[in-house]
Amino acid sequence: MPAVAHDSLPPDPFAGDPEDPALALEALDDPADVIEEPLDDEERVGLLADLKDLAVYQALLAPRGLRGIVVDCPDCAEQHYHDWHLLRASLQQLLEVGRMRAHEPAYDPDPAGYVSWEYCRGYTDAVLADNGG
Ligand SMILES: [Zn+2]
Repeated sequence: MPAVAHDSLPPDPFAGDPEDPALALEALDDPADVIEEPLDDEERVGLLADLKDLAVYQALLAPRGLRGIVVDCPDCAEQHYHDWHLLRASLQQLLEVGRMRAHEPAYDPDPAGYVSWEYCRGYTDAVLADNGG
């Protein structure tokens, strides 16, 4: 490859331009949603705690007719309805593989059957407070 003096080339019209189309093309080749970063210890501990909490919530709330947990998804700006076992599977996969499954559209969920993570936490705290006397 012949050496070409850099200053003999025409100036890059997009030099320093954050909207350089070449950068956009690179972004297409490397979609952000396939980034896989290993979990750090803190995330791992948090997931294990979530799994433990989830088991408690399911034990307390499933007998009351609740089917799972609804999560406000910051990526889709939608609410995702997760059945207990699906949420557990997702958390376990995140723990083992380092990423969640693709966002699945809700399958005709009945919103009345799902409560937020915060609701579960509050409910559990109340039950434990009652039992603890
Ligand atoms: Zn989503």
